[in-house]
Amino acid sequence: MIQKHLSNPCLVKKTIWGVDKLTNSCPVCDRIIRAENPSKGDSVYEEHYCSHYCRLFEERGLEKIPRLNKYHSGRFRWPEIHIPCEMCSKPTLLSHEIERGNRKFCSTKCHHLLQSAKKRRMEIGHLLLCILRHRATYFPKKESWMGATLIAEYIGRTTRQINSKRVSSMLKRWVASGLVEVKNREYRFNLKKLGKTPLAKAMYEWTTLSYAERIVVGSNPT
Ligand SMILES: [Zn+2]
Ligand SMILES: [Zn+2]
Repeated sequence: MIQKHLSNPCLVKKTIWGVDKLTNSCPVCDRIIRAENPSKGDSVYEEHYCSHYCRLFEERGLEKIPRLNKYHSGRFRWPEIHIPCEMCSKPTLLSHEIERGNRKFCSTKCHHLLQSAKKRRMEIGHLLLCILRHRATYFPKKESWMGATLIAEYIGRTTRQINSKRVSSMLKRWVASGLVEVKNREYRFNLKKLGKTPLAKAMYEWTTLSYAERIVVGSNPT
């Protein structure tokens, strides 16, 4: 039986071999949440579910599908979940397998397009904005503001190490674009500013626009 832990919703009490243990397993599928110690395919900022897939599974009220094949009676499979590609908005398939549970792009072509944007370390910039956007989307309002040190901690869970100074300097460009707000040295993603535009596309356009065009985008009221 799974019992929720009161102080930390990520931790559940389980009896393993007769011993009560607190583990942080996914409330949907029981898989261990590996945000703090990620392997390939894991998300460093999804701390409440094992993957984006499982978050959406619960959010959308989905159910596992019984396998109709007579040899597999009584077995279930995970339904397909589609999200819009971060670059081209095309439906992108997420599946329960961890390698595909946190996908963001429909294809390597779209992923490479982001990286190609003037080669200005867009990949890490994208992770940085994803962390901020995740906060702004799923955390209570007050907690959606993040300091540079906290952001650097999350990025440090990957193989990339970065200090808070570098985070602040990388964020300057996105503050200028209007995608990120800054107050008392804390940053918050501006969800309204992004609207329905896929994030990577907005980033790509911002970096490849001419100076004059940027002024127009940046001064747009949200
Ligand atoms: Zn899960
Ligand atoms: Zn795409």
